[in-house]
Amino acid sequence: MSQKSLFTDLLGIQGWGVVAGGIRIEEDGSVTVRIDRRSVGYSCGQCGEGLLFTYDTQPPRRIRDFPIWGRQCYLEVEFVRVDCPRCGVVIEGLDWVERYARQTVRYEKYVAGLCDLLPVSDVAALEGLSKDAVYRMDKKWLQRRDAKREERTVRYLGIDEISLRKGHRYATVFYDLERKEVIGLVKTRKERAVGGFFRCFGRKRCKAVEAVCMDLWQPFLNSVRRHCKNAVVVFDKFHVYKYLSDAIEAVRRHEQSICSDEEGKLIKGTRWLWLRASRNLKRKHKQTLEQIMAINRQLQKAYLLKEDFEAFYACSTREEAEAFLKGWIKRCKQSRLEPFIKLAKRLVRWSHGIFSYFEYRITNGVAEGINNKIKVLKRRSYGFHDEHYFFLKILNATGALPSFEQLSDPQL
Ligand SMILES: [Zn+2]
Repeated sequence: MSQKSLFTDLLGIQGWGVVAGGIRIEEDGSVTVRIDRRSVGYSCGQCGEGLLFTYDTQPPRRIRDFPIWGRQCYLEVEFVRVDCPRCGVVIEGLDWVERYARQTVRYEKYVAGLCDLLPVSDVAALEGLSKDAVYRMDKKWLQRRDAKREERTVRYLGIDEISLRKGHRYATVFYDLERKEVIGLVKTRKERAVGGFFRCFGRKRCKAVEAVCMDLWQPFLNSVRRHCKNAVVVFDKFHVYKYLSDAIEAVRRHEQSICSDEEGKLIKGTRWLWLRASRNLKRKHKQTLEQIMAINRQLQKAYLLKEDFEAFYACSTREEAEAFLKGWIKRCKQSRLEPFIKLAKRLVRWSHGIFSYFEYRITNGVAEGINNKIKVLKRRSYGFHDEHYFFLKILNATGALPSFEQLSDPQL
């Protein structure tokens, strides 16, 4: 094999070859490889029409490609313009480089692929590109993969909120609970935004949803009722626990504010001890709680109610759970603890969704893992002022986007 055809094989671009003696090292250490056309015919860059003749030839351009032996590499190419009967004089279309792009398609995919593993700033430093160029390439390919996302039906849908910035700015996330994937994100947790997701989701897929797991949040509920008429609503177990934690914390805070100084010292800083399940507490922590409960009857009542509630989600049937909750709610009312009375009312009001857990046994437990991935992403912050880009990164991090191989675009 001659050296020339060896280089052409190495280049690996169909219909193009390396020009004899066309490889040189530039002053900055990069490599330039001059290539020329080995096939007949052209195509219109606008409509794709096949054409036999050129209109004129453009001055040579340098197109960034894969690195060679640790050096940045550029292909030097002369593109042509064609005179298309439909579009007029336009630059030719090629499958390995997009019109006006400064790099090959395969190099863009390579850079975008690196962005799955590294922050944009690291990829930029590694490849000697600007951060903005890397971000644009990454976003472009994420958008293309997003557009190729399969429209699969979802049996169990999860709806949850995530905080985008500390303390405020919530977004709503939609999960396919069976596949453990994010399937959608909307910028707020308002009813209208959630409805917008369902409209994109399509009537057919909305109809196929059998159960929806979510927080006790009215806007979500309204939206689900309107769009997913066949779906049973299941209130997320973790959110129910959160309301329980809030109740005991409210009791603790109230007691701390009205008790004697001495008792106050004992209660102060024990917040998390009350929230944790007693079986997970160390002995000395249990003793602290016992000490407080020996002198504070209100906290004792609250703690017992909270500990008893553990048995609720352990019930094996809906009937059993209904009987249990009835008794528990009665005890809440008897306790005369304001936060627990409020909680009891809330549970009665939302009981339909709380009991349906025992038929479907779905939770938004996947949300935790996904939230951790989002936290990692937030630290690699370049480009995240662009919320759409940030959402695409989240979709990608949770495996919701098809791979590069699944794109039907040119395979170079
Ligand atoms: Zn054309």
